Amino acid sequence: MLTTVLSIIVGGMLGHAVDAGYHGRLAQYINSPQSYAIALFSPESVQKGKGGWQGEHAGKWLYTASKAYERTGDPAVLDRLTSVADYLLSLQEENGYLGCYREDKRYYHRPSPEAMTVDWDTWIIAYLIKGLTETTVATGNAKYADAALRLTEFLHWTVFDQGIKIAQTGQHSGMAGCGMLDPLCDLYLLRPTAKVKEMIDRCIQELDETPCLQLVSLLEKGYDVALIGNGKIYEMTRCLTGLAKAYQLFGDKRLLVACNNFWNSVTSSHLTTLGGPWGGINFCWELFNRAAEWAPYEVTETCSVMEWMHFNWEMLRITGDGKFASEIEKTSYNALMAARAEDGLRWIYYVRTNGELTPRGDWACCWSSGMTALEDIPCYMYETRKSGIYVNIIEESAYTAEVKGRKVRIDQTADYALTGKASFVLGTGAAMKPENEKAEKLGSFEIAVHLPQWASSYTVKVNGKETDGKVKNGYITLKRSWKEGDVLDLEFPYTLRSIEKTWEYRNAGSKEHNFSNWYNGFTKHYVSYMAGPLVFATDHLDRFEKQSPIAVSRDEAAKAELLLSEDGKAQAVKVGGTTLRPICLMPPFEGEQARFIWFQLK
Ligand SMILES: [Zn+2]
Repeated sequence: MLTTVLSIIVGGMLGHAVDAGYHGRLAQYINSPQSYAIALFSPESVQKGKGGWQGEHAGKWLYTASKAYERTGDPAVLDRLTSVADYLLSLQEENGYLGCYREDKRYYHRPSPEAMTVDWDTWIIAYLIKGLTETTVATGNAKYADAALRLTEFLHWTVFDQGIKIAQTGQHSGMAGCGMLDPLCDLYLLRPTAKVKEMIDRCIQELDETPCLQLVSLLEKGYDVALIGNGKIYEMTRCLTGLAKAYQLFGDKRLLVACNNFWNSVTSSHLTTLGGPWGGINFCWELFNRAAEWAPYEVTETCSVMEWMHFNWEMLRITGDGKFASEIEKTSYNALMAARAEDGLRWIYYVRTNGELTPRGDWACCWSSGMTALEDIPCYMYETRKSGIYVNIIEESAYTAEVKGRKVRIDQTADYALTGKASFVLGTGAAMKPENEKAEKLGSFEIAVHLPQWASSYTVKVNGKETDGKVKNGYITLKRSWKEGDVLDLEFPYTLRSIEKTWEYRNAGSKEHNFSNWYNGFTKHYVSYMAGPLVFATDHLDRFEKQSPIAVSRDEAAKAELLLSEDGKAQAVKVGGTTLRPICLMPPFEGEQARFIWFQLK
């Protein structure tokens, strides 16, 4: 695992963002046991009895710092990682508990059997299990996973001996508590004990048997995600990541049906064109919207973006289907890039397709989730499968792998996001030989590049000669005998695309967050623009309380044009009198704090 990840170098706009996150929030928000998010766990702070969900940053940071160390091997990251992890281990109590809640406020004294609590004790514990488990993967030191196991055994004791219901230890119809399924599956890979397995089974059972939730059964029946539990996007998606991992460990087919139906429901009705799961029209900003309802003011929480990428990655591992890679790529280039600040430190909490960008502060959940999602990108980019090398995100990068017993290096160049072109050069991992020396044979294997969902067609060339690439399971696949210096070129037609949607307002009640108080009964049509994998936007402000006067006629909309630079890269889209830029090239915090992708059609 370690060598695979270490062998990826990322460049291009995604690499630039990964680098900024690495030197930004990862290096600065937590860098020692004295950092605020870790000091929360100190005995002095715990005694104050505040608790609070901000304890989650510790586990998210341990996980992300571990991934960053696996990727870079940087001793400075290792130092920070082990000093923080060792400090947390020193606070673990005799009985195994580790958290930031004072004894009398912990989850196991509550809740009443009737009520979900509003506290986050087990949520934080779950993130600690995730972080400590990954710390052992990164460092090879068993003590961190051992601590995660002791913590899990403590949870086990409270659940199986004290009668605590996991679902009742957290909000959102039990999904905040049962989300521990995800890290428990990670831990099971390192510590496959009977107690960890029993906790995994109990999480799945409670997700299904909690009356207001019935997550697995309702997904199996094909219910829309908005109709399950309270529809909380982040927590539900995290539970589904856990269910996908549990399927991989134990093979219960019901879980796979549930996961596939979840993906179908989200992609058919609950994703923005930026690739983020969204809410905010009918109920609350953080809950899935009713499937049939749409408005241009879609709200995406960055935590949900991270978890949607995690879930797609697990589905890709299960099925090998390139459609999941395409989702990860779209989300990376749009929803994630739209939320990140250029300094790698700050993040947007809520990104709206039309409307304000809401950052909140550095204590906010989304600031750590954005950091984590960035560091996961290099892990998603390539896979070595039995048959060869698979490319899941197209971006400038280098990847070294062992394929059928031989070391192979792929160097990927070209500005795919701005041109639709990608070029792959094969090598041995050593310096390329001079032209007069014979190229080394690399062997016969597949190179497979996911077929982006936006691409209407493609051309493949090997060493300048057009060739047939077959699409298999969502990947353009070429099997041949490769040699050092071979060049594989891919080109996807990079043209302007538009999509239209209709905001059909039907009176749906009178709660604060729906629109019936303002608008009652109308139909409006909207258009937005994409080219290649990118969505185009301006920073014009359009809010549902005060709608923008900017609108375009059908004639203007049809005449929209894509503007290219002299070297053929996408720069802008011109629609009527408005110029749009790729949303990924509009870092928040530098300019107007609003985005606008949906034009009303007049
Ligand atoms: Zn968040």
